[in-house]
Amino acid sequence: MTKKIGVLALQGDFTEHKAMLRKLGAEAPSVRLPRDLNGLDGLVIPGGESTTIGKLMQDYKLIPPISQLAHNDFPIMGTCAGMIVLSRKANSLDFKPIGAIDIDVERNAFGRQTDSFETDLSIPVLGAAPFHTIFIRAPLIIRAGDGVNILAKLPDGKGATAQQGKILVSAFHPELTDDIRLHRYFLNIVTGAN
Ligand code: GLN
Repeated sequence: MTKKIGVLALQGDFTEHKAMLRKLGAEAPSVRLPRDLNGLDGLVIPGGESTTIGKLMQDYKLIPPISQLAHNDFPIMGTCAGMIVLSRKANSLDFKPIGAIDIDVERNAFGRQTDSFETDLSIPVLGAAPFHTIFIRAPLIIRAGDGVNILAKLPDGKGATAQQGKILVSAFHPELTDDIRLHRYFLNIVTGAN
């Protein structure tokens, strides 16, 4: 049966996530209000600016229902700012992140010199071919609890993508590439295949 994956569409690159999910045969409705969460099989929180996304989530009263889903084994994927929103702790944030995954992140971890960059990373759960990753003013995972599976690391050993239960996060932007594998991996979490 077609899966319905909501995409939080308050700010950021939600359009690219929707396109990717549709390419994989899923429905990808926008989520802007709590009622948009009804009947979904999963949710994607896109990249963008986490302070803005968090503020709008507060304004639209989305934090309590999304937290509740996240803590009840509901599949959620967060990329970049979305990873920050789902983390347990992040620096310089004026709202409390949801804490859906037991990681602490450092926002804008690469500083001005290497603000944004692209690199090929090995993500073994996605197969042998490297994944072309795009980092844009990206956060990094600086602490991960025991239950967290780091799926890929940067050469310095810092986590770039991680999973805990049905929560999947990445510091980079798979939605800005043609590589559908991380989104397919998420859909497999949704269907129970992963
Ligand atoms: N720097 C942004 C933040 O801290 C994240 C950037 C992104 O999502 N590409 O929210």
